[in-house]
Amino acid sequence: MDILWSPWRYDYIRSNEKRESGGASDCVFCEVLQSPAADDEKFIVHRAGFNFVILNIFPYITGHLMIVPFEHLPAISQASKESTDELMDLIKRSQEILGEVYRPNGFNIGMNLGKAAGAGVEEHFHMHVMPRWTGDSNFMTTVAETRTIPETLEKTYEKLKGRF
Ligand SMILES: [Zn+2]
Repeated sequence: MDILWSPWRYDYIRSNEKRESGGASDCVFCEVLQSPAADDEKFIVHRAGFNFVILNIFPYITGHLMIVPFEHLPAISQASKESTDELMDLIKRSQEILGEVYRPNGFNIGMNLGKAAGAGVEEHFHMHVMPRWTGDSNFMTTVAETRTIPETLEKTYEKLKGRF
């Protein structure tokens, strides 16, 4: 599937190559956390006590957020209650913020655990929060095999930063 308008794609592919060539960490989320770059360069929208909120650099749709625990754990069942309570609060807040900023018709909220379930990063669990619009996927996705991303990550970041 092709992605239209993805100026960040080159960096993403480059960082994948780096990992495959034997980088210190195989986990993209831990790598992001350890990187000395500023949060706005890493698209980290918010840091809470146990989790952080980050834009998906390879989004399915504008406003695609991920809520990720700081702790490197493959399964939500291994996380502490404090951590998952906060995760749930961050999901609620994400839905409110995306609702105010983008006025979507609906949301997809969920997680893929394990490769069989479609997890892209299976070693570090994370929650996806995506705004959805009537007809956003069935037309472009099935007809053209292309997802439209009508806004840059920088623009999305600007809109969401500071709202949590
Ligand atoms: Zn990790």
